Amino acid sequence: MEVDWSTVDKKWQKKWAENNDHETNSNDKEKKFITVAYPYPNSPQHIGHGRTYTIADVHSRYLRMKGYNVLFPMGFHYTGTPILGMAKRVEANDTELIEGFKTLYKVPEDKIKEFAEPVKIADYFHEEIKSGMIEMGYSIDWRREFTTIDPAYQKFIEWQFRNLKEKNLIVQGSHPVGWCPKDQNPVSQHDTLGDVEPDFTEYIVIKFDLNGVKIPVATLRPETLFGVTNIWINPQVTYQKIKVNDEIWITSPECARKLGFLEKKIEVIEDVSGSDFVGQSAKAPHSSDSIVILPASFVKSDNGTGIVMSVPAHAPFDYQALVDCKSGKNKSIGGNLLSNIQNIEPISMIKTEGLGDIPAKDIVEKMGISHQDDPKLEDATKEIYSKEFYEGILANNTKQFAGKKISEAKDEIKEWITEIGSADILLELTNSPVKCRCGAECVVKLLSNQWFLDYSNKDWKKKAHTCFDKMNILPNEISSEFDKVLDWLRERACARQHGLGTKVPWDKEWLVESLADSVIYMAFYIISKYVNKKEINGNDLTDEFFDYIFYGKKDSGEIANKINTTKEKLEEIRNEFSYFYPVDSRHSGRDLVPNHLTFFVLNHVALFPEENWPQEIVVNGSVLMAGKKMSKSMGNIIPLREAVRKYGADPIRLTILISAELLQDADFNVEAINGIKNKLESMHESCAKIKSEEIPELEPEDKWIFSVLQNLASNVSQSMDKIRFREALHHILYDFDSELQWYLKRAKSKQRTNISGILHKILSSRVLMLSPFAPHMAEEMWEKLGNSELASKSEWPSSVGIEIDSKSIQTETLLKSIIDDINNILKVTKISPKKIIIYTAEQWKSKAYNSILKNVLDGQTNVGTIIKSLIADKETESIKKDPDFVKKTLNDILSEPAELRKGRMNVGQVDEREIISSELSSLVKSDYNVELDVFSESDSKKYDPKNKAKTARPFKPAILIE
Ligand SMILES: [Zn+2]
Repeated sequence: MEVDWSTVDKKWQKKWAENNDHETNSNDKEKKFITVAYPYPNSPQHIGHGRTYTIADVHSRYLRMKGYNVLFPMGFHYTGTPILGMAKRVEANDTELIEGFKTLYKVPEDKIKEFAEPVKIADYFHEEIKSGMIEMGYSIDWRREFTTIDPAYQKFIEWQFRNLKEKNLIVQGSHPVGWCPKDQNPVSQHDTLGDVEPDFTEYIVIKFDLNGVKIPVATLRPETLFGVTNIWINPQVTYQKIKVNDEIWITSPECARKLGFLEKKIEVIEDVSGSDFVGQSAKAPHSSDSIVILPASFVKSDNGTGIVMSVPAHAPFDYQALVDCKSGKNKSIGGNLLSNIQNIEPISMIKTEGLGDIPAKDIVEKMGISHQDDPKLEDATKEIYSKEFYEGILANNTKQFAGKKISEAKDEIKEWITEIGSADILLELTNSPVKCRCGAECVVKLLSNQWFLDYSNKDWKKKAHTCFDKMNILPNEISSEFDKVLDWLRERACARQHGLGTKVPWDKEWLVESLADSVIYMAFYIISKYVNKKEINGNDLTDEFFDYIFYGKKDSGEIANKINTTKEKLEEIRNEFSYFYPVDSRHSGRDLVPNHLTFFVLNHVALFPEENWPQEIVVNGSVLMAGKKMSKSMGNIIPLREAVRKYGADPIRLTILISAELLQDADFNVEAINGIKNKLESMHESCAKIKSEEIPELEPEDKWIFSVLQNLASNVSQSMDKIRFREALHHILYDFDSELQWYLKRAKSKQRTNISGILHKILSSRVLMLSPFAPHMAEEMWEKLGNSELASKSEWPSSVGIEIDSKSIQTETLLKSIIDDINNILKVTKISPKKIIIYTAEQWKSKAYNSILKNVLDGQTNVGTIIKSLIADKETESIKKDPDFVKKTLNDILSEPAELRKGRMNVGQVDEREIISSELSSLVKSDYNVELDVFSESDSKKYDPKNKAKTARPFKPAILIE
């Protein structure tokens, strides 16, 4: 029976909306507050976005069925530069972008024209995303919707910022930031193409002096200054003579540009060739020595200043380049110079246990390196650097630093060179090139007098660690990542020059940055409902108002007067906040671990008392398209709404969730979605067929199938609690099928006609468990099963109301294993049976079996020990006749699931002969159309021509087929 998915989707979405099913206010039930990172509306959502929201929705729906009052709200994040960048590109008639809007996102042409205005882009995709969320069946309380440029939200962010500043957590200072030179704006992950967080390294620049002109070299190892023998310059590069504040420097043009972003006044005087400097000498800052400048091809102009100092004893590149120079192969070294440099020898200045005096020489020779462009030099450098850094001691030729460890002396040496006026700093992107969304290549800028969130504050970090330690983080293995992020976080620019958003309240030239205004907004979902209902006016809101709602500070009556509302209304809002806060679960993609999720915790611990700190973070991985990464260039991005129209909401929800647990990548492919559709359609068909009849007195197989159902319900509930949705879905959709088939086979062989009520009850439980995952289809099935209430409003079936019956589990396991054995014999012997005879084990074997089982449950599995104890017991001493029995039985027991073993112990001895006679005959008759005879091994009149009976063991009867 084919399902019209779109009709089913719309039917139930309409019903939920009519009943206001997802609108939540405070009440006397226990609450759960589930949130997910709100979307940034600069494009429609695609299947990949769908994953996080679907997980949060399933979580919300599950908790609702468990009896909680669940709030699941949604807002829209307009803040930031990306939308601004897009608007500019539309204005400039960027055909690639406009074509993307048309073909990929299907935006009508008259709408695209309006997109030169940033807010129009945000508004358009806001509605698009919202429609998609409704079409996916997300159970969102839309009365609380807001955007981050609403007046009330801006008041809220102003309150947040003033509050942080009062606590000295927003500071003014000079700190490096990623920077777009075109937009004149700091950039972080949200602002860059490919969502890359700009990362940078600080070099120390040591200035050598050439007749008043500075020859600056950039290094991460200032301590090696004591080992300098020469300076390297690249003769192929055109350098620049520049004025840096009051000094004249020689640097590469790339360096000159970088310096311009580091609060320096740069003036280019003229171009100079690198080769002009070869053979000249400069004075070192730490001594009166003249240091000769030599040519080297490994020196790159885009790295550092384009000039480096040479420390051949400890730097393999320098060692090899010096060897190359001395060899005379280098054409730019003339005769005089060539003979002068022959006496340059490496200067050893670090002693490291396990390394020789000239470690660079040793490693170059060991690795067989023969020229300075050999890529192996990178590895050689890393090896020496890390060993010397951790274990190296400065030698006697390092003045006041002699005897100190490198790791300790590094900063002291840096300070000393700075004090003698010969040092500066240079900041460089480590992960360049990083491109801004506007297309420009980003740089590092030293931003002065700028507003920074002081994430390097130790007390603040400590508090956040405490919060993370107490919080439930799913999956748990991600916890350590949060700890690492917290440890390396430092001051973070929190203001921007351009974009949409809230002005920094005390410095209106600047806007609050998008990863700073999106950290405590979950609290705003309480207030937005009243703003949207027009019970308070967003423009009226004051800091006192927020202090009252969030902290209960001051008198509500007084504040109410000032903001044109009533005391009662304010108290209502305050109560609702106290009821719903803290956030019980925050869902997000893994890419937000190093920024948003960590900031979310940091800002909560700064602004809220401990009882309102977040309780849980749930992180999920991404979605692949048929095994491949989704990307615009691959053309495999499917907008969510398009997918819903094509496949229906529930098949998409299930396909995204069933292929992976939280951190794994989920895979979306057509085969999987068709498989899910078929499965749901066949369940739907059963629901239409099976009538709700009275449940008869239970037969063994009925007790058994209900026990299996109860086990299923327990397993699914456990998986749900751990947000192991893949596992839960497999239990619900597939694990039960073979059991159900066995049950139907048993019932059919007994020619029963009274099982409809039982099947109805089973199906009802499965449909309810399916409801959080496939909410539309589950309602449809639930209706077909004859219910007038909604499935989503029913109680989660943690219990099916029937106790687990261990005896029936033992019985059915026995019967199933006998049928399996018969089938195996028939397969091997290829005979068509005329008669089947079964022999059950005699009494003493059952006693011995129980004894062995007890041993196993007590942890004793040694055959010798078990045999001894059996012989010692009068009741089981007969095993002397058949010592092999113990070994075989022990294997039988060990090959069975632990749960079954325990059940067997609880049930005790069962009368196998009785069970097989009464329950198996009908099955053998219907399966093989032959009669079944059952004898006990001890039966003296038994028919046993092949002497089989003596091989019978408990739960492993002997079988003869004729
Ligand atoms: Zn830019």
